[in-house]
Amino acid sequence: MSKKQFKTESKKLLDLMINSIYTNKEIFLRELISNASDALDKRHYLSLTDNNYSSDQPLTINISVDKENRTLTISDNGIGMDKTELENNLGTIAHSGSLDFKEQLEKKNEVDIIGQFGVGFYSAFMVAKKIVVTTKKVGNQAYQWESTGEDGYSINECTKETVGTDICLYLRDDTDEVKYSDYLDKYQIETLVKKYSDYVRYPITMMVEKSVPVEGKEDEYKTVEELKTLNTMIPLWRRDKKDITKEEYDAFYKSQFNDWNEPQEVIHYSVEGNISYKALLYIPSKAPYNYYSKDYQPGLQLYSKGVFIMNNAKDLLPDYYYFVKGLIDTDDVSLNISREILQQNNQLQALNKSISKKIKSTLVNMLIKEREKYEEFFKNFGYSLKYGVYQDYGMHKDELQDLLLFYSSKEEKYVTLKEYKERMPEGQNEIYYASGKSIEQIKKLPQIEQILSKGYEVLYFVDDIDEFVVMMMNEYDGKAFKSAQKAGSEVDSEEEKENKEQLTKDNKTLLESMSEALKDRVKEVRISSRLKSHPVCLVAEDNGISMEMEKYLSQLPTDQKAKATKILEINPNHEIFKVLQKVYENHKEDIADYADILYQQALLIEGFPIEDPVEYSNKICRLMEEVNK
Ligand code: ADP
Repeated sequence: MSKKQFKTESKKLLDLMINSIYTNKEIFLRELISNASDALDKRHYLSLTDNNYSSDQPLTINISVDKENRTLTISDNGIGMDKTELENNLGTIAHSGSLDFKEQLEKKNEVDIIGQFGVGFYSAFMVAKKIVVTTKKVGNQAYQWESTGEDGYSINECTKETVGTDICLYLRDDTDEVKYSDYLDKYQIETLVKKYSDYVRYPITMMVEKSVPVEGKEDEYKTVEELKTLNTMIPLWRRDKKDITKEEYDAFYKSQFNDWNEPQEVIHYSVEGNISYKALLYIPSKAPYNYYSKDYQPGLQLYSKGVFIMNNAKDLLPDYYYFVKGLIDTDDVSLNISREILQQNNQLQALNKSISKKIKSTLVNMLIKEREKYEEFFKNFGYSLKYGVYQDYGMHKDELQDLLLFYSSKEEKYVTLKEYKERMPEGQNEIYYASGKSIEQIKKLPQIEQILSKGYEVLYFVDDIDEFVVMMMNEYDGKAFKSAQKAGSEVDSEEEKENKEQLTKDNKTLLESMSEALKDRVKEVRISSRLKSHPVCLVAEDNGISMEMEKYLSQLPTDQKAKATKILEINPNHEIFKVLQKVYENHKEDIADYADILYQQALLIEGFPIEDPVEYSNKICRLMEEVNK
């Protein structure tokens, strides 16, 4: 009997399971039942087209207990495994759930995350010191896989009459901390099945003892054994809403969608009409760690008449709602439908539309009635909604724009565009925004001083995508968006305007010589009316890309390094301006250096790197040395 070693990556996961201090060890049963149920699904599916797979017995999961030998066996008459499958499925982590888990583990090394993943089969090693899997496929030799975890596994031929799989767990010895023999207690098992696997579509049976009156003799009872089905099998979503507890909704969510956390929102409803369906949808309370990566598998489960058809049916959701998990059950989609047909199915489009509508109304409701909860939601998935506005050339902006939140200078919290617009004072015609790395940084931006001083509200954009979103929207409810960091966002009174023109005239040659000194870098140096406490700032030309976009594009691994056309603005009321006037009068030759220093400082404030740090610091030093002259 030759022993094989587990693949290294599997070994790591195994070690973790064997040495697990995870308190929720009981989930192993849920995992094994779920595997069995999948195996039954596979067999059922094949039997639709191939009689060889039909079973004369109903498809069932059975649990049996042997107290003497301390074993717990989970059996199914599902698809079974052949030798290669045994090797591949139980000797390696080849499946997505476990692989993700392993990667996460390497990053965090936390036992806490076990429950987040469908770690499946290996979780049985949390409670078992040895596992024996006996399995047979249709028309195949039966095999036995055996392992104690640590020293690899072996696979041998064996005899098994019926098709399917038996997973036999040899439970660990009880310790002071953990009473593994609890898993031999039938009452406990029944409780666990109810808790985690009640909705499983196949009967989960177990022999139980029952007291029955002895016939003909009053008051005398005998104990008989009977096969009991432990689960109700009624799919949760087909039950009446008012009979379902939050715990049941949550437990179902956790086991079906591999999330450790409770969902933030449950959406359970049914629709009758042109297209009829029942839906049980969930909004997660935390974004999955891979949500914003291509590893994330979006989509809903699709059932027809209570029978599972497919996982991850992407077409049921628009991508901006991909964070929604759940399932729909409809009588209007045929059972034997293939993936390709599914894609072109009109019914699906109708379903998608109807589901989107429901998600939207749920979100709007949350926004109105449970603001804090909505803000929490938006923290997780707001990016997804923003991306939805941007993609497809803004096609979905009407659907999504009222779901967006942005940080407001006035409220110092997240607000909707509608709220912003309603608060706009007389005379304000545009929606102002400013972009930066963080709210703290934006608050200090010189460019927003004037707008704020007029009592106008500024939206602070901290997400890369924000500017792209408003660029795509162009306007909200008749009000255009305006960047505070662009040239045309000064909000001057007539007086301020005239004053500025006069100052520009008076300092014409000074401004020209500064413009000349910076001619490759800025389009113009000009007098500003927007600055209050700051000496200078940069703004981008109105019609070009913004400075935030320049920064964003410069990080992309493409050649598309477009730059914003910049204008350097000077505050004529600042001491520094008087210094400039003086330098220009007395040391014209130095004005280029002064212009350069101020330009570099404006770059810094904007969050750009200094072009030539050595040169810059030399110039500052030269200036400081002036004191000694
Ligand atoms: P996952 O279920 O996430 O794929 P598991 O480690 O739980 O990972 O199981 C690995 C694989 O072993 C399954 O994908 C399946 O192919 C196979 N398997 C597990 N249990 C059974 C079973 N009872 N019957 C048939 N195949 C099974």
